[in-house]
Amino acid sequence: MTINSEALQAVPDPSSQRISVLGATGSVGQNTLDLIGRNREKFDVVALTAQTNVDKLAELSINHNAELAVIGDDQAYSDLKSALAGTEVEVAAGREALVHAASLSADWTMAAIVGAAGLQPTLAAIRQGNTVALANKECLVCAGNLFMNEVSCASAKLLPVDSEHSAIFQSIHSSNAGEIDKITLTASGGPFLKWSSDQIAAAQPEDALNHPTWSMGAKISIDSATMMNKGLELIEAFHLFPVDSSQLEILVHPESIVHGLVSYRDGSVLAQLGTPDMRTPIAYSLAWPNRMETPTERLDLATIGKLTFISPDENKFPCLRIAREILEEGAFGGVALNAANEIAVEAFLDRTLSFTAIPKLIESVLDQMHADNPPSSLSTIEEVLVIDEESRKLARSLLNHYIS
Ligand code: NDP
Repeated sequence: MTINSEALQAVPDPSSQRISVLGATGSVGQNTLDLIGRNREKFDVVALTAQTNVDKLAELSINHNAELAVIGDDQAYSDLKSALAGTEVEVAAGREALVHAASLSADWTMAAIVGAAGLQPTLAAIRQGNTVALANKECLVCAGNLFMNEVSCASAKLLPVDSEHSAIFQSIHSSNAGEIDKITLTASGGPFLKWSSDQIAAAQPEDALNHPTWSMGAKISIDSATMMNKGLELIEAFHLFPVDSSQLEILVHPESIVHGLVSYRDGSVLAQLGTPDMRTPIAYSLAWPNRMETPTERLDLATIGKLTFISPDENKFPCLRIAREILEEGAFGGVALNAANEIAVEAFLDRTLSFTAIPKLIESVLDQMHADNPPSSLSTIEEVLVIDEESRKLARSLLNHYIS
C-alpha cells in the first residue's frame, strides 16, 4: 500500500502537451477528446486506440490530427487503412501494436480501455515513465501491487480518473497520510436501488444499462447495477491511497453530487462535489496540478435542496460483499474476481445469464480457483495473465449451471 506521492508533487505547466488516449472510442475516451478538442493549442495527439470501432477511430484521428491510430482487431486493419487514406495518420492493428502505441513517449496518457484487456497497454505507458490518467480500474483490481511497484520503479505518475478516486485525490495530501481516519467512496446505487428483489430477479440488460445519473460504457453500467463497480473501486482505492481495507467505506448517495470524502483524525471531513459529468475528473487529471475550464453544468445546491446518504445493502447487492472479501484476502483473487465478472457481464448482456446469476457465477469461479490454487500474491504480469485466462475458461465452463 503506497500513497502516490510522486503524483502529489507539483510540476511546471508545459506550453503544449503530447497526449495519447487508449480506448479513444469509448465513453471516457470521447469525453477526454472533447476536452482536448476545446483546447487544441495546448495538446498534440500522439496515438489513439480502439478495438473494433473503425469509423469512430478514423473520425477522431482526423479531427484531432493524431500521429497514429491503432485498432486492436487485426481483421479491421484494411478498413482503418481505407478510412484514413489520404491523411497523414499512421495506421496499425493488433495487440502488439496497441502495446506499442501505449509505449510511445507522451507527456500524458489516458488509460481508458475497458477490462483486463487494458493491463498490458497501461503497463507499457507506465514503464515509459509517462503520466498516466487511470480510468481502467480493472488494472488495479487484477494487479494492484505490481502496478504500484512499476509506477515507482519508472518514476511514472498515476492520476486517478474514476470520479470517486479523483475526489479523494483532491481531498488528500501526502503529508497527512497518517492523519486519515477513513476514506468514503460514494455510490449512486445504480438503477435498481429502489427495486424489490423480485423486480431485480427479472431485470433485463436495457433496465441495467439505464443508469440514473451517469452516462457510461456498457460494462461499467452493468457493474454499477450489480454494485460490483463499487467493489472494484474499493480495491482500486486500497492500492491508490495510504489506508487499510478497514478504513475504506461505501455510502450510497443517489444524487451523485458528493463523489468522495476523506475523514481526518480531528473530526474534519474533506469532500469534492460536482455535477455527475466525467469531464470534471478527466479535466483534473489533464490540468493537474492546476485546473482548466470545462463545459460541465455548474452545481446549484439551492436548486438541488437536499442530498441523501444511505448505507449499502450487501444482501440485495452481493457483489459488494464478494469484492470486499477479495480485498481482505489480498492474494490472487482480484484477477479471478475481475475475469469472472467480465464473463458474467458479457453473458448477461447477451441475455444468456440472468441478472441475479451474475454474483452466483462469480462466487463459483472464486471457490473453484481458491480450491485449485495456493493463496499466493502474483509478482509478474505473466502470472496475472495465466490466472486471468484460467478464470475466464472456468467461468465459461460453469455458465451452463446458471442458465435457467
Ligand atoms: P467503453 O466500453 O465505452 O469503451 C471502452 C474502450 O476500450 C473503447 O475504446 C473500446 O474500443 C476499447 N476496447 C474494448 N475492448 C478492448 C480490447 N479488448 N482491447 C483494446 N481496447 C478495447 O468503456 P468506458 O469508457 O465506459 O470505460 C473505460 C474504463 O474506464 C473502464 O475500465 C471503466 O470501468 C472506467 N471508467 C469509466 C467511467 C465512465 O464514465 N464511462 C467512469 C470511471 C471509470 P471499441 O469502441 O472499438 O470497442
